[in-house]
Amino acid sequence: MDQTISHTLKVSRECKAANTVVSIGSGAGRVQIGGPHFALIAGPCTIESKEMLFDIAAKVKRAGAVILRGGAFKPRTSPYSFQGMGAEGLSWLSEVKHELGIPIVSEITASSQLPLFDDVDMLQVGSRNMQNYELLKALAQTDKPVLLKRGVSATLSDFLLSAEYIVAGGNPNVILCERGIRTFSNETRNTPDIVAIPLLRSMTHLPVIMDPSHATGLSSLVEPIALAATAAGAAGIMTEVHNDPESALCDGKQSITPADFESVAKRIFRLRDAIG
Ligand code: PEP
Ligand code: MN
Repeated sequence: MDQTISHTLKVSRECKAANTVVSIGSGAGRVQIGGPHFALIAGPCTIESKEMLFDIAAKVKRAGAVILRGGAFKPRTSPYSFQGMGAEGLSWLSEVKHELGIPIVSEITASSQLPLFDDVDMLQVGSRNMQNYELLKALAQTDKPVLLKRGVSATLSDFLLSAEYIVAGGNPNVILCERGIRTFSNETRNTPDIVAIPLLRSMTHLPVIMDPSHATGLSSLVEPIALAATAAGAAGIMTEVHNDPESALCDGKQSITPADFESVAKRIFRLRDAIG
C-alpha cells in the first residue's frame, strides 16, 4: 500500500505540520473539530418530518451532540428507494437549527443544489460522490466546511487526492470521514477501517472522524466501533439516530435510539478522559 502521498500536496502533513481545526457554524453554537477539539454529530439518516427531526435533535443535543445531521437529498443504491425530502427537508433542518441553536450538516449531491444549502453549516459529500470531481471543484469555491466521506473502494491516497481538489481549489475547511470500505466480509454492511484513522493522521493535517453506522450497518455495532475509533484518535463520531428505528425510511437497521445515543456518548466522553 502506498502510505506516503506526495509531500507537495496541500493536504499532506509535510506541507503543513499543525493539525487543521475546522470551525462549523457561527456565534454561540460554533463548533470546532480537529486538533484538541472532538465533536459528536448525530441525527437521522434522512429527514422524514419536522416533528421527528426536532424530537431527535433535542434529545441528541441534550446527550452531547454538537452538530445535527439529516439527509434531504439521498443518494440511494436503488432508484426505487426513498430519495429524500429534498428542499422541504432542508427547510425543516434549518428551522430546527434555529430553534435549538445547533449547527447542521447535510449531503449535497450536485453543485446545482448549492443555493438550497445557504443555511447549512457543513456540506457532506457522500461516499458515492467522493470522486465526483466537478462537485469537489464547485465546493472548493465556497467557504463552507466540507465533510468528505471515503468511497467504498477508495485507497487512502485516492481519498486524500479528493480532499486535495477542495483544499487546493481554495477551501481549506475539509473534514475526512471514514465510513467503512467494501471487503470480502459480508457479515457487516461495510468493513470499518479503524487503521485508516491513525494512518490518515500521519499522512494529513486534516481532521478525521468515524461514521460507525455506515461502517457496520448494524445498530449493535455502533458503540464498539465508535469507541474503537475514538481510541484510535478520531476527532469526532457521526452516528445515525432515529426515534423509531424499525419504521425508519432509510437505514433503520444501523440507527440507534436517542436513549442508546446518550449511553454511547457518555462512554465516548469517559474513554476520552481516560486516554487523555
Ligand atoms: C449518509 O451519511 O447517510 C450516507 C449516505 O453515507 P455514505 O455516503 O457514507 O453512504
Ligand atoms: Mn444513512
